[in-house]
Amino acid sequence: MQANVVIQTAFLGDLILSIPLFKRLKETQPKLSLIVVCKKGLGDFLIQEKIADQCIEITKGDKKSYQTALNILEKFEIENIYCVHRSIRSLLFAAQIRAKKKIGFSSFFGFWVFDDQVDFADEWPEVLRIIKILETTDTVIYKSLSNVNWENLNDPNADGVLPSVPDIFAFKKKYISKVPTKKIALFPGSVWATKKWTEAGFVAVANFFLKEGYTVDLMGGPDEKQLCEQIASAAPQATLWAGRLSIAESVQAIANYDLVICNDSAAAHMASYQCTPVLTIFGPTTLNLGFRPWSNSAIIVENNGLDCRPCGKHGHQKCPLGHHNCMNLIGPQQVIDAALFLISKSYSA
Ligand code: SF4
Repeated sequence: MQANVVIQTAFLGDLILSIPLFKRLKETQPKLSLIVVCKKGLGDFLIQEKIADQCIEITKGDKKSYQTALNILEKFEIENIYCVHRSIRSLLFAAQIRAKKKIGFSSFFGFWVFDDQVDFADEWPEVLRIIKILETTDTVIYKSLSNVNWENLNDPNADGVLPSVPDIFAFKKKYISKVPTKKIALFPGSVWATKKWTEAGFVAVANFFLKEGYTVDLMGGPDEKQLCEQIASAAPQATLWAGRLSIAESVQAIANYDLVICNDSAAAHMASYQCTPVLTIFGPTTLNLGFRPWSNSAIIVENNGLDCRPCGKHGHQKCPLGHHNCMNLIGPQQVIDAALFLISKSYSA
């Protein structure tokens, strides 16, 4: 069977931001199966959403899982490999796959593996950085990227920015209008400790919306269950969902909320994918790193008065300065005001 292969073994958020690339490949090369090589646990979501035909999951550091993936790929006649993950490990993995053409982002060893090397656009939003990998094989993408209006494109708070982005870069062809449900989801977790806003802040926001008559659900993966339990103990009418849903189920559930409130984490991208309005609290990371929620209905809350931001691409497990003021100085009222503004903007029509 003939196939295209995309290697994207990064975290869930990056995988979601690769969806416009996956969709473009399916649309323009419908006769080829789309195989996505991704991180363990993330493939079901792409299959259930019918975004990929097959997902091969690998576990970082587990050589056996890479070998299993190679054995599976051996059975396909592979037209193109698109290696969007920029690690040496992914490059070495791509080197071992038989394919007519291999395309990756420019790197020191890239010439050794890739037929086409594409420059990585550091200053672009991640969706566009990723889909840029098609610029040598897809002239429409090449031309569209040349015509995008870049002004403020990294900033969701700049009104009316995303509508200038052509449909081919969007998650959905048409933006889905929502009917209000009076339900809010809070995702207080993050893989990186410094990217988490304060527990007390989430408690205050949960209690505010409960008092306003909203259903408030506490969401997240199994690692975030304990944090959500602590928040639930101080906001007892909130419902605890963390650790109870698979990734695919969480993505589906997100479609039913008026608003998602989260840190700079995968939840922001899950909400954007479902066209659910999303408020994202940025701490050690900043918008110019390229990971804005890819949505028209998004708002960012951040502390713009600190010189130490950003202090890393992902943040750290501990604040290097010890005070964690990028998050500690953001008060609940700031988040509540932004949430109410986004709700009124999203549902006023
Ligand atoms: S160094 Fe600054 S940006 Fe980094 S975690 Fe600490 S307060 Fe936040």
